[in-house]
Formats: sequence, structure tokens, C-alpha cells
Amino acid sequence: MFSLFLCGFSPVQKNVQSSLREDRGASERLQLFEKMNTMEVKLIPCCIFFILMAVAIKAQVNPEMCRYPLGMTGGKIQDKDISASSQWSESTAARFGRLDFDTGDGDGAWCPDIMTEPDGFKEYLQVDLRSLHFITLVGTQGRHANGMGNEFAQRYKIKYSRDGSSWLGWHDRLGKQVIEGNKNTYDVVLKDLEPPIIARFVRFMPVADASMSVCMRVELYGCEWLDGLVSYSLPDGHQMIYRGLDVFFNDSLYDGAIAQRLTKGLGQLADGTWGLDDFLHSQVHGVWPGYDYVGWSNKTFPKGYVEMIFDFDHIRNFTSMKVHCSNMFSRGVRLFRQVTCYFRSESEWESDPVTFRPASEPLSQSARFVTVPLGDRTARSIKCRFHFSDQWMLFSEMAFQSGSAVYNTSLSPHKHGQSKKTLLGGDPTHKVDDSNTRILIGCLVAIIAILLAIILIILWRQVWQKMLEKASRRWLDDELTARLAIQTQAFSFLQSSLSSDDGSTSSYERIYPPCANYQEPSRLIRKLPEFAECTEHLEPAASWGAAICSDSAPHYAEAHIISLQESSDSSSIRAVNMHLFAGPDLTLKEFPREKLTFKEKLGEGQFGEVHLCEAESMQDFLDEDLTMEGNSKSPLLVAVKTLREDANKNARNDFLKEIRIMSRLRDPNIVRLLAVCVDTDPLCMITEYMENGDLNQFLCSLRLKAQNNDKEKQEEGSDEVSSIKLLGMAVQIASGMNYLSSLNFVHRDLATRNCLVGKNDTIKIADFGMSRNLYRGDYFRIQGRAVLPIRWMSWESILLGKFTMASDVWAFGVTLWEILTLCKEQPYSQFSDEQVIENTGEFFRNQGKQVYLPKPQCCPDRIYNDLMLSCWRRNAQERPSFKEIHTQLMESMV
Ligand code: ADP
Repeated sequence: MFSLFLCGFSPVQKNVQSSLREDRGASERLQLFEKMNTMEVKLIPCCIFFILMAVAIKAQVNPEMCRYPLGMTGGKIQDKDISASSQWSESTAARFGRLDFDTGDGDGAWCPDIMTEPDGFKEYLQVDLRSLHFITLVGTQGRHANGMGNEFAQRYKIKYSRDGSSWLGWHDRLGKQVIEGNKNTYDVVLKDLEPPIIARFVRFMPVADASMSVCMRVELYGCEWLDGLVSYSLPDGHQMIYRGLDVFFNDSLYDGAIAQRLTKGLGQLADGTWGLDDFLHSQVHGVWPGYDYVGWSNKTFPKGYVEMIFDFDHIRNFTSMKVHCSNMFSRGVRLFRQVTCYFRSESEWESDPVTFRPASEPLSQSARFVTVPLGDRTARSIKCRFHFSDQWMLFSEMAFQSGSAVYNTSLSPHKHGQSKKTLLGGDPTHKVDDSNTRILIGCLVAIIAILLAIILIILWRQVWQKMLEKASRRWLDDELTARLAIQTQAFSFLQSSLSSDDGSTSSYERIYPPCANYQEPSRLIRKLPEFAECTEHLEPAASWGAAICSDSAPHYAEAHIISLQESSDSSSIRAVNMHLFAGPDLTLKEFPREKLTFKEKLGEGQFGEVHLCEAESMQDFLDEDLTMEGNSKSPLLVAVKTLREDANKNARNDFLKEIRIMSRLRDPNIVRLLAVCVDTDPLCMITEYMENGDLNQFLCSLRLKAQNNDKEKQEEGSDEVSSIKLLGMAVQIASGMNYLSSLNFVHRDLATRNCLVGKNDTIKIADFGMSRNLYRGDYFRIQGRAVLPIRWMSWESILLGKFTMASDVWAFGVTLWEILTLCKEQPYSQFSDEQVIENTGEFFRNQGKQVYLPKPQCCPDRIYNDLMLSCWRRNAQERPSFKEIHTQLMESMV
């Protein structure tokens, strides 16, 4: 049942874990949870270990645990089992001799009828426990009788019997028999029985100093003697001389007949005390060396073994025998080599013994229990022959397990060493536990508690997630309304040419859902920041002014990448790119649509299709700095990006924004916008044609040229590319980005998919929006709202919504990695989106647990260590600038 429970537990745990992983902000809690998992994982084997330990401990009696009131107080011992040598009156009969029993029809204690004479010891109060018990403690009390009593036993002795016929006097380890008793009529005085008694009958015998009346109330403490061992018989132990020291291995506690062999008694091998590793020392204070052990020298055993016979109370089914042995082989003492046990149920010993050899020679000198399996043999007596494996064999304890009986090891209310004061009637829990139920219940309760804790964490997480969701929705809505206002303002110059398209059902995928509290742009203008200067400095939200530059609008990428968290930093990014709209009026020329001749479809982006067209007389529309190849009269091949006809207003605005941004960018490594067709629908932007499409697909179709050929020129038409050529591509991107950064322009979506490849491997940065069709998998969708290229994003962009040139540098590092891996796999391809975000959390925590993209095979060490890794530095200010990156890459080409 237990293992079933454990098995059932792991899927729950897994689910919880995966659901936590879904929560991007939960990486810390995830860590906590993983710790908890670890704790659980540790706890479960711990529980199992505990059970095994408990079972092991419960296999032999433990005097520290075996201290339960046996039933004088609680009434478990019946009146008929309490007898006495005499009674002073019926009201002081034996049955009134129960500890803490003060009322009823009696006079509050047992009192013998004759005055106790010194050294007489004739009177006794006898308790029959009905079965053998291991008795570790006794308690006595005088007669109080609500203040009427005046008698108590100042001293007493104890006698005990296992069979009710032969009686033995108890004495302590040093031979003293008389026990100090009570000093008044009411206090309970407890006496630890050292050594304990194994008996069924116990007699309390008051001793008086002078002729006086005594009365007693008593209790016995211990537990049932489950071993059932009534007596053992063995040769008495020997004396060892160790370095001039007399070491006695006799059985000093043996209570049977002592002759050449010890017979009909029990002693040290059943006292519940195990010897120390060093047999010269003892658990017991003030006794002689070797006290804990009974031991024999092999010299007196010509047959090489010591024979012991164990007699039990009745026929039992024996599962095992445990022998506690010394193994001080440096002093000639070792575990037995072999033991052979014979069994007897009736009169004859059975012929088929059980033989056992301890596993292998233990290297440690520590004393230990050796468990001898007895194979469920039925017997009333067992005869075992222990064979020497060295000069000496020392045993300190023997225990027998039969049936399913085990000792109850739960803590008793009366612990060893507790002050000997009044005992309150404890529960007589000395019953036999026939299973591990208690331990199992304990473990199950612990596991249930853990499960409850996990459930609480899940519930807490859900509440937290809901709160986060609400908050993020608010932020998104705020941002959207602000954005719409800006867009409207910024593109007022084009509005006359735009036809309102609100009602159309566009397939354009909006990132922001229409917001419930959408406000008219005119009302929102007041909220917008004042963009005095283009700077990376992050302006606090409080500094947002009331006025706005009429031409200030966020750049395109901003419209598509949203911050995950509300942050005043968001103002900074607007500030950075606003100036692209703050210049003089654009000189974009409207190109006559009829002069475009469709050739082929190049691809499809978020706005619509991109076509290859021939453009007649395009030269007339080009800026002076542009020199196109070929005859100025012949039609020019151009790429025409068209806004799909069913695009809604937001898509149109975004499309126009991209036009606006691109129209201002002039760099050999930035795709050039040549002209537009915005007078009528569909809106078109005409850009230079890049023959080899996007860099991602371009590289994907290539393979790496062998390194020794790196310097060689790439052959025309070959599908191989050298690492030097790859670095050359990276140089061009760095150059384009350097240009953008000189304008304080933040791209926010730099990746190979957003770079185009022209003739002679010219690379140009394009796509100032995000391509979500072909490269949908590169973007991460936040709760159905926005998509983010998280695998390219810096930790601060993801966690703080902070986009700067330094976060573009981060993306450049990833782009460089893509290039050098020939785009054969996605960055962190082995990570789920959630894991990527968790990793981002690690970058934030900076505890060395963050995972970096590995060095691509063809990447020179210097490029990886000095450049790529520097792009992913946690501190944005420590990342290189594009200028530095460009220089470094150029140098690496030499
Ligand atoms: P969007 O930005 O809307 O996703 P893109 O600009 O990425 O759209 O264009 C989609 C695809 O069209 C690109 O992956 C590329 O293959 C092709 N394409 C776009 N512009 C050009 C161009 N100037 N020259 C050649 N191919 C182009």
C-alpha cells in the first residue's frame, strides 16, 4: 500500500511542476518547489529507512522504550491477580495496593496484618502479570487515604518468578537487594530496575527498620517479553588477561543455577543492554572490564564451538535470532564463523539443523548484531553451536523473533531519568504490535501533509497568476491606447490618403486585442511623453510632459513587442526611436502602380504577400545616392510588399509606420525603401530586391566548408560556405546595426530571419516588424496577447520590458550564433519557451545557473569568448557597442 501511494504521488508532482513552469514569473517559486520536491524525494526514502530501522529496533527489547505501566494503576491487572501474604483488614487487602488508587471501599493501600520485623521479609504483595514481562521500573507509594493514612514502606525488596514456583531475589548490578522506598504517604517513588527483570510474578516485600506498620501501593512498568525466552543454558564465560588487565566475561546477571554450565536462568544475554565496541568499557558505570559481554576462549572448546540451549515459554515459529557480538579482531575477538541451530518441539532434537555463516569478514571492529535466519522453524527449545573464528567469541545480547510479534517502541510517558515524582495513570500500551501500522500511519500522515502543502502552493499560485493576469491586461490596455494615439498623430500627413477600414475582417494578426477602455486619441495625447532628446537614459514616468511633438510616434518594432511588466522604462524606448519621425517631412514618392509588372511571389509576411516585380522607370524615383545596376531605361527588379486588402486599421497603421521608419534609413546594410503606392489600396512598399531571400533560409540550405579550406574562395553555385564567409555576413549585420545605433534606433527583433541576402552575399537588415507566419515558432505568445522573440531577447527585455541598443546587442549575439550554426537549429532548441524564460530568470539572479548558447562548431574561441558571450553579459552597460562588435569582427577576418 505504501509503495502504491508513492507511485501515485509522482504524477501529481509532475503535473504541479509543469503547471508551475507555465508561469514565467514563477521561476523562483519553481526553484522553491524543486527544493520541496527534493525534500519530498529525500523524505520518502527517509520514511522507508525509518520503517526499516523501526522494524530492526523492534526486533529486540529496548529498556529505554519498554517502560509502560503494566496495569496496577489503570486496572488492567485484575484484582484476582493481586495477592498478598496477609492483610491487616479486608479494607487493606491486596487489591487496594494499586498505585495512585486512593478511594473506593478500601482504606487506600495494601497493609499486611503483622508488623514487619527487621530482616523478616515475610510479607509481600504479589502481582501476577499473566505472562512473561520485561520489567524495567517499579513505583511505590504509601497509604494516604485522604490524609488519614500514615504508613509507607521506607525500604523494600523484590522477588520474581517466571513459573510461580521458583522465586528469585532481585539485586542490582553490584549485588544490592534492598531498594529505597517512600518518605511519605503520598509521593510516588520510582525505581529503575537495573538489571531489568523477566518475570510473570513479582513480589514487593516491605522492609522495616523497626517494628512498625507499613502499607504499600505499587505499579510495575515494562512491556511484554515477546522473545518468550524462559531460560538459556551455556558454559559460563571466561576470564581474559589483556595487557595485565583482568577482563571478566562471566554472565554476572545469570539468575539460574551456576555450575560448569549455567542452567535454567536468564542473564546478561537477555538484559536489553548491548556491549560497546571496546569490550573493556561498559555501558554500566562502576563495573569491571568485560562486564557487558559473556565470552569464551576457544582453548577450552576442543570441538571449536560453544553450545547454547534456549528454552521458550511455548512452541513458537522462529523467524530469526539476533546475536550481538564483539568484533575486536585486533584483540583476538571475532564474530562467530558459523552457527548451527537444532530445534526441539517435543523431547527429541530434530535432525535437520539450520546452519548460517555471517556474510563476509567485516573490516570494521565495531560490535554488531548478526541476524541468523531460522527459517520459520517450529520449536520450544533451540540448541545453537557457535563456531569460533578467532581466539575469542564475545556475545552481549541475544534476541529471538517468532511469528509477527515486535516490540512497541513508541515513547513511553515515563522516560528513563525522569524525576521520580507522582505518576499519572498512563495508558498501558504494552500490547503487542503485530504490524508496522503505526509507522506506516505516521509516514502516510507526513506525506498527506506534504500533499496538502503542495495543494496550498498550487492554489496560491493560481491566485497569484490571476492577479498577474489582471495587472498585465491593464498594462497592455494602457499601452495600446497610448500607442493608438501616437500612431494617429504621427501619420496625420498620410491620413488623407488612407481610407478608413475599420469594419473589414482582416486576417492581419493583431498583437493587442481591441481594448475595452479604448479612448479617443485626442483625449490621450495629453498622456504622452515629451521627447526632447534621443537618449538611452531612462526617464521616469513622472517626467512625462503634457506636450508632444507632432511627429513623434513609436517605431515599428515597438508596436509588436510589448513589455511584460509595466515599467517606466517603456518611455525610454519611445524616446530612443521617436526622433526617426521627428525630422523634416518625408520625401517618399508615390509610384504609379501600373508601372509594376508582377513576376513572382517571393514570400508572405504579416501584412500580406511580397512579390517580385519589374518596375518601369524606377530610376526616376530613386534618390541620388542610389545607383542601380543595368540600363537606367530598362525595368528594375524590385520587391513589392503589399498590405492585404482586408487589413484593418491597425494593420494599415503599422504598415505605414514601417514605411515611415524605412524611408529614413540609408545604409548599405539596411534594406532600402525605394517608393510607395499609398494613394489607393492595396498599400504597397517597394524595396530593393534581395535575390537570395532571407538569411535564415539561405544559411539553412548551406553546409559548412571544411576548415582547412576556409580561406579559399567559395565556389559559385556551391552549397558550402566557409566560416570566414559566415563571419563576413556577421560583419555586415554589425555594420547595419552600427548605423541604426548611430541613429539611436532600437530594432528589437534582430535575427537571421529578419536579414535579407542579396547578390554576392550582401546582407541587409530588414523587417522592422516581426515575421510571424513562417517563423511563428520563434515567437512566444503571452496569454494569447502578444508574441515575443524570447530566444533572441535579453533578460531585461523579457523581465523588465526594457529595450535598448544593449538588448539589440544581445540579439546580435544570438544572430551571430545562428549564423555560425548555419541556422540548423533554433537557439535553445532543447528548451521549451517556459524553460527559456526560466533561464532568463537565472540571468537575472546571476547565481551562475544561467545556461548560455554553446559555442558553434566553427566559431573561433576568441569570437565565442570575447564577443558572443560579451553580448550576453548581465549588465547591459558591460556589453560591447555595435561599433566595437564591428571592429572586433573585422579584425577576426584578417
Ligand atoms: P513580414 O515582415 O511581414 O513578415 P517580410 O518582410 O519578412 O514580411 O517578407 C516575407 C518574405 O518575403 C521574407 O521572408 C523574404 O523571403 C521575402 N522578402 C521580403 N522582402 C524581400 C526583398 N526585399 N527581397 C527579396 N525577398 C524578400
